[in-house]
Amino acid sequence: MNGGPIKRRIFMRQHRWTHARLSDYLDGELSHRDEERVEQHTRICPECSRLLATLRGTLRELMGLHDEPLPSVADGVIERLRRSW
Ligand SMILES: [Zn+2]
Repeated sequence: MNGGPIKRRIFMRQHRWTHARLSDYLDGELSHRDEERVEQHTRICPECSRLLATLRGTLRELMGLHDEPLPSVADGVIERLRRSW
């Protein structure tokens, strides 16, 4: 990420904002405006786009293993990924 300290600070703020909302984004719980913010950031942030892909793959696996979504299991996985961030 190039750019001056101010640009960098804005980026980091969006990064934290997006990171905290990725699971809600996948659950479709964000407003349209917030979805767009997430998409805008993941396009320019390799870390968030990688995490989003990981979460998507993990959730798909969990859905494939069970007939019904298991939110508590999914939340546990997401929490673990967040801690290893
Ligand atoms: Zn990011």
